[in-house]
Amino acid sequence: MRRLEHFPSKLRALVSRRWIGELNYGAARGEFEVAASIETLLNERKGASTVASSCRNRKTMSKTTEKITKTDQEWRAELSPTAYNVLREKGTERPFSNDTKNAAPGVYKCTGCGQELFTSDAKFDSGTGWPSFSQPISADAVEEETDTKFFMKRTEILCSRCDGHLGHVFPDGPAPTGLRYCMNGVALKFEPKETK
Ligand code: FE
Repeated sequence: MRRLEHFPSKLRALVSRRWIGELNYGAARGEFEVAASIETLLNERKGASTVASSCRNRKTMSKTTEKITKTDQEWRAELSPTAYNVLREKGTERPFSNDTKNAAPGVYKCTGCGQELFTSDAKFDSGTGWPSFSQPISADAVEEETDTKFFMKRTEILCSRCDGHLGHVFPDGPAPTGLRYCMNGVALKFEPKETK
């Protein structure tokens, strides 16, 4: 496998600038993962006439969730500019801007529609500056899409109810799942567990 340094500097700069937080996580393993993603993508580009068709392969995990649909104007009116950028425009917040490191027990809900997405039990400190979880609250709370932006093949995570962009999932998380759901904090609303 090629190391990241063996890719053209322009490509490397683009990936590093954008995803430095993810590269820092897991050090060499993270770097190899990114290098592998670029290689896969380049190979696909060579073989396929278009990558566009593979960009939007929605993997539907939820068959039963009732969708919430709103106009762009409604979303803009309801969400803060940062939340709108992340949820509706698939943006990424700056690392360390919204990871509360909240260790209190509770539930993380979707900022867009209020659907329950993650519990505090699954939260861990990844050091990336983005709230990270080992698994969603249930399989049908989120949906996955293949995202090939920025010369990387990543798995995007969306809220299954409002289709809001939440973040990405990576295969370098802790036990028991081995997954790291790397989320944008602005897309999540923490609700502490009620204490009696
Ligand atoms: Fe939602």
